[in-house]
Amino acid sequence: MKVFQGKLMQYILKNAVRTVQYRSFTNVLSGPFNYVDGSKVTPVDFEDNIVVIQPSTGKRLCCVPASGSKDVNHAVLAAKLAFKEWSRQSNTQRGRLLLSAGKKIRDNLEYISQVEVNNNGKPIWEARVDIASCADAFEYFGGIIGSLTGQHVPFQGNSFAIVSREPLGVVGGIGAWNFPLQTCSWKVAPALACGNTMVFKPSPLTPLTAIILAELLEEVGFPKGAFNVIQGGAATGNALCSHPSVAKVSFTGSVDTGVKVMKAAADGIKKVTLELGGKSPIIIFDDADMENSVKATLMGNFLSQGAVCSNGTRVFVHEKIASSFLDCLIEATKKLKIGDPFKEDTTVGATISNDHARKVLRYIENAKKSGAVVAYGGEIVTLPPPLNEGIYISPCILTNCNDTMQVVKEEVFGAVLSFLTFSSEEEVIERANNTKFGLAGAVFTRDIQRAMRVIRQLEAGTIWINNYNIYPPEVPFGGYKFSGLGRENGTAVLEHYTQQKTVYMEAGNVDCGPLYQK
Ligand code: NAD
Repeated sequence: MKVFQGKLMQYILKNAVRTVQYRSFTNVLSGPFNYVDGSKVTPVDFEDNIVVIQPSTGKRLCCVPASGSKDVNHAVLAAKLAFKEWSRQSNTQRGRLLLSAGKKIRDNLEYISQVEVNNNGKPIWEARVDIASCADAFEYFGGIIGSLTGQHVPFQGNSFAIVSREPLGVVGGIGAWNFPLQTCSWKVAPALACGNTMVFKPSPLTPLTAIILAELLEEVGFPKGAFNVIQGGAATGNALCSHPSVAKVSFTGSVDTGVKVMKAAADGIKKVTLELGGKSPIIIFDDADMENSVKATLMGNFLSQGAVCSNGTRVFVHEKIASSFLDCLIEATKKLKIGDPFKEDTTVGATISNDHARKVLRYIENAKKSGAVVAYGGEIVTLPPPLNEGIYISPCILTNCNDTMQVVKEEVFGAVLSFLTFSSEEEVIERANNTKFGLAGAVFTRDIQRAMRVIRQLEAGTIWINNYNIYPPEVPFGGYKFSGLGRENGTAVLEHYTQQKTVYMEAGNVDCGPLYQK
């Protein structure tokens, strides 16, 4: 997920190098990696050791013990205790702390971005945009939470009811590896703003930046236990989802895991938010602005090595402009620079892991076997030492695709674009919706009436007209169909982190009819 706003981007690029860099990277690598009740702690019943790799070099970064259920319990109890104090603060008091957290993230933007690049392998300029969007989330929710109010409903006589919004309690957060701190911040900021506390489990591939966030939150004055981090994989995540004192689970990840999370939560009647995968369409009509369509197609396919949930990997181009669009797209893709993610001009970084690279390459191979043609890329690129053991895959454009191919139907989660053509509006709407997913989509046209007609019919939680992958925190984000449940961001998310309490106030006498005789 991205927030690409021209001015914001220019600001970040200009100011990033000037931000404070007082923290040591080795500090975050040396552990302990759990952060519970205001301290870094080593798990007591650790399950396993997770070897964390630096994707850019393929070298080991650190070894993180996965937490067992005792550790999950410890963290949940700390969060439960902290909830008593935190939930009693006024919304404005909590908002003030969130605003300070946003500033603290900005002050440390370069440092956090560098840790993110070390751990994820995405280009540094992208990491800066991601981390700025984390600050945005804290600032947005810090700014709006003071105005979260309930209802007053008058009845006959002087009786009335008030409907108040109350926090849920302890929220379990589970994050994905592609936007490690962003998937975390989009949960923590609204959850804490509403008065909940949180235990967050990052992806085992990218455990580091959540720990930095925990430290920063405590530095600006969040109470101990308000935000806790436990490390681990599926077993740790499952223990968190099943813990009886967790009131809600907010999950970002794949559909398969989302189903497991929902089932575990169902046993405890816990609320869930699920932010899952996608296979989104980008529809480019023959009157579209060519350059903007190409730029947006790059943004909708090749950022973060293609590992973006909302990516528009099914690119439908009107047959009249298909050939010229494809030429422009290939030209632009050739100019992407694969390289050291720390270099300012790198636009394609390293793939997160060997396993993931194999999965992406398998999709390309299967696509070729079923008749797709690689018009560009899709190959391993070997870089000179010390990057020679990192895995770099050139962004791939597949042509000769059809809607029944596996690569067109499934989420690849890599930089693999399926180029498809269409001839009519009705046809493309039907084909765009012919997927189990419904996370996002885009329409490129200069005809506003057509744009409005098409977007009304597209089955997706977010649609862009003439742009792609823009996610300001002010608007909700989430999926239709298999892409998820609930929303993050916007005021919509406040519904998901609060529950309503109706209080009826009787101003007269109890009238119980003939039930009571004097
Ligand atoms: P994943 O499903 O493999 O893992 C996600 C998280 O779930 C990890 O922290 C993992 O350790 C944990 N987990 C695994 N098994 C679990 C279980 N049984 N119970 C509880 N937790 C468990 O996904 P991933 O590979 O980390 O991320 C990629 C996926 O995430 C893609 O499908 C992508 O589209 C999706 N994603 C969605 C959004 C969104 O906002 N919609 C954003 C980013 C990523």
